[in-house]
Amino acid sequence: MSKKFIIIMKITTCLNTTEKEVLAKKFNIIIGISIGNKYFTKENIRDYLLWAVKNTKEKVAILIPDKIHAVNYEVRSGYKKERSLKRAINEGEKIENIAKDIIEELPFEKHSVMSILKWEDIETEEYKRRVSVLYDEFKDNSKFRNEIIEIVKEYCNSEKLTDCDYEKLATYPLEELPMLVCGTITKIPSIYTIPIGFDLFIDPMDPGKYLNHSCEPSCGIKNRTQIVAMSDLKKDEEITIDYAMFVPTKQGHPRVGIDAPICRCGAKNRREQFGNYEELSDELREKYKGYISDYLI
Ligand SMILES: [Zn+2]
Repeated sequence: MSKKFIIIMKITTCLNTTEKEVLAKKFNIIIGISIGNKYFTKENIRDYLLWAVKNTKEKVAILIPDKIHAVNYEVRSGYKKERSLKRAINEGEKIENIAKDIIEELPFEKHSVMSILKWEDIETEEYKRRVSVLYDEFKDNSKFRNEIIEIVKEYCNSEKLTDCDYEKLATYPLEELPMLVCGTITKIPSIYTIPIGFDLFIDPMDPGKYLNHSCEPSCGIKNRTQIVAMSDLKKDEEITIDYAMFVPTKQGHPRVGIDAPICRCGAKNRREQFGNYEELSDELREKYKGYISDYLI
């Protein structure tokens, strides 16, 4: 069986489609690269990505499930939680660098087609809510619990593993499920979406969806999805962000829907229009250092 066929088989299984539909570029392709899977050599990752660029509708997302892999180190290598997480993040970075090198080899116009996503990038509020429902179900519903444990055993059956180990390993499919079933990433912007790449967005739940812009914001963004206070917040102080921290250009401002909308935030240093990163002054770039979505820098 050729590698290409394996990819198509996987997509067929996930999206309930046919090989013909995939080859007709009906879908945007997400390539998930599992950490610790020996199949993903640099050469094989290159084959996957080149195949995806050729066959995708518009975009390719490369998803590296780094964080959720940590449990494997905990169970299999006997590492402590913290060390496991560190190792998983490190291994994820190695894969990210491989993917970046491959993207560099592509013609320039293809660069913006590719987005690399870590697990953190898909952990939206909606995702977290769904995962917590699944954990509750795993705790209370024995039928569901047994089914998940069976799936784990199918993939990693070993005499060395105890029931407790299997239970720990079950966190991996539990964490992965919401993404596989619903998807939290969208190609279509709305006034609520937050860009996490060029032409790639997440659709936050309440209250993230009502996050207002201010030219004097109280918060900034870490990585691509985490809203963090830039200094201590006062009681009842509004959580605001400068849209220029995650919006790349003014074209079709993805948080507002139209080009160059007028800002009425009332801040002393109000900039007339909702910002975008491209037009952000050097002074503000310096002020916002460490609080700008990392796909822009
Ligand atoms: Zn303003």
